[in-house]
Amino acid sequence: MKIGILGFQGSIEEHEYAFRRLSVETIRVKTPQDLECVDGIVLPGGESTHMLRMLHFNHLFDPLRKMIQDGLPTMATCAGVVLLSKAIDNTKQETFQVLDVVVSRNGYGPQYFSFVEEVTIEGFTEKFRAVFIRAPIVRSLDSNIPVLSKDRHENPIFIRQKNIFALTFHPEIGNDDRIHSMFLQSLT
Ligand code: GLN
Repeated sequence: MKIGILGFQGSIEEHEYAFRRLSVETIRVKTPQDLECVDGIVLPGGESTHMLRMLHFNHLFDPLRKMIQDGLPTMATCAGVVLLSKAIDNTKQETFQVLDVVVSRNGYGPQYFSFVEEVTIEGFTEKFRAVFIRAPIVRSLDSNIPVLSKDRHENPIFIRQKNIFALTFHPEIGNDDRIHSMFLQSLT
């Protein structure tokens, strides 16, 4: 099994370390050819505007969008959720429109308001230390999308729409690999 990590910018190495701890091979995806050998993909946190520019520059936007739409297992975190969303309500920015949510970018405020919260996740007995870095807020979502976790204001922070795991926080920070394991289990 090989997991692709969109490899332009952002929290790439941290995801690589997590999958390495779980003995799973990864590849940095930067071109359409890189997509040919992956069984799943991670869209990491980082800067969605930059990733968007690079997706177009490297002709990856359309093939990646199609593969996700056709069922490629996908884990999107933070900026990744912005990229996948149906719409953004506070900035004008193109998205893949494959995830039925509307998001506000930097919904909790600028970098200064980044924070850590111990959250409850459906299926986990112990809480998860969730790191939010200029995270988006999910403002609305299709009513039949399962919500696996919410923040203390009741905003959805972890949802699962068919093949897409969407998390507004950074599960790759902190050596707790339970979410990566859950994602891998969904592939088998
Ligand atoms: N605010 C960033 C964006 O919209 C996302 C931040 C992150 O991924 N940590 O691209």
